[in-house]
Amino acid sequence: MPAVTRRRSHSQEWYERAQKYLIEGVNSPSRGSSVYASGPIVLERGQGSQVWDIDGNQYTDFMMSFGALIHGHAHPVIVDAVYQAMADGSHFAAATPAELEAAERFCRMVPTAEAVRFTNTGTEATMLALRLARGFTGRNKFLKFEGHYHGWYDPYLLNAHGHPPEKLGAPEKPARIPDSQGIPPAVFDDVVIAPWNDVAQFERVMREHGDELAAVITEPIMANMGCIPPREGYLQRLRQLAQQHGALFILDEVVTGFRYAPGCCQELWALKPDLSTFGKAMGAGFPVGAVTGRREILEQMRWGEPMVLHYGTFNGHRLTMKVIAASLGLLAADKGAAFRKLRGLGDTAISGLRDVFARRKIKAIVQGFGPMFQIYFTGREAIHDYRDYCAHVDAARYSRFVQLLLGEGIYMTPSNGLHWIISTAHCEADIKALVRAADRACARLT
Ligand code: PLP
Repeated sequence: MPAVTRRRSHSQEWYERAQKYLIEGVNSPSRGSSVYASGPIVLERGQGSQVWDIDGNQYTDFMMSFGALIHGHAHPVIVDAVYQAMADGSHFAAATPAELEAAERFCRMVPTAEAVRFTNTGTEATMLALRLARGFTGRNKFLKFEGHYHGWYDPYLLNAHGHPPEKLGAPEKPARIPDSQGIPPAVFDDVVIAPWNDVAQFERVMREHGDELAAVITEPIMANMGCIPPREGYLQRLRQLAQQHGALFILDEVVTGFRYAPGCCQELWALKPDLSTFGKAMGAGFPVGAVTGRREILEQMRWGEPMVLHYGTFNGHRLTMKVIAASLGLLAADKGAAFRKLRGLGDTAISGLRDVFARRKIKAIVQGFGPMFQIYFTGREAIHDYRDYCAHVDAARYSRFVQLLLGEGIYMTPSNGLHWIISTAHCEADIKALVRAADRACARLT
């Protein structure tokens, strides 16, 4: 379907109405005008790997709800789990067999899970992890890395967005750039910032601040500046030095969780985080998060004095727990065959796209592996960190490329900071369609 024939009339009309009641017509800026200049794509139906907008345009979906839809849209097992759960009541805010079933499945899959606490979003999970780390160590400060996003909780919103390179300051003394108004500056007094993927910088920061830190928090694969894998041994060194200084090592697997292996990145790279956080894929499209790790840290939530408080009407939401159990059941089945499929399809997509850019002589790289990757228009051979991303990636060209792909029936966000997602609902034909569409888009790309 060439770009010019994509129908937009209902979407345009919807956008005009929606702006009256919803800011920018949406409920999150990642869906709004910063990404879709002429108005959002308004989706109304999904099935498997396909979605349809309100103008009847059909797309193959490679965004998959920012990675939440590990089984694609309306997977029959998930639909069935929801119907069956709903028939007996959605939620009781009480103890249920459903939360035990979800917890047992979760703890069997995640290697460092000695117990688990479910939350409603990834943001709630990272909030709770920080509170637990502070409670456990009696320290307030924590270290986060430039360009890492851990949700929209106040102290995490420092240097989480891309900025022009001249604003970043020296790597030894990064400029501290808040990502939002409305956060008291004092909140950031307890945040230590360091460049990621650079052992020497980390060792320096730990010499200066290590003994004051409650935690070092990191994404295993940097997933909010596209897709940036860690250098070999880097994450192990983070864990080692954090431990030496008495700081907890928090692995934020909200994006990577249940995507690469049954035991996630911690299994893939034999990591031993003190705490780790989850969300997205685990809930197969339902709002969910989790904190897991060492029991003695989690035990702080046991009622008494002192304790680390974590309340929530919707914690352990019954319907969602049923979905988690069903989703994890599908992923664990047949000795993790789903992960082999995700890996295989993802790697095929990556090599197909690389071939297209090489044949078309376009300076672009495809970075990542398996079911999560990103395209960078850059002269560089690799993007290793936030500073590379801010200085050497042509995000505007990427946005134009994705707009062309939308016209070819491929659904993806034009934001270069996100990443392409393969779900278990994708098939070889979807990957072929993507590669063909990318080739046609390249022919028209300016
Ligand atoms: N942590 C990481 C690494 C994320 O990418 C995100 C969201 O994209 C979060 C935490 C927050 O999760 P949620 O959007 O479910 O609050």
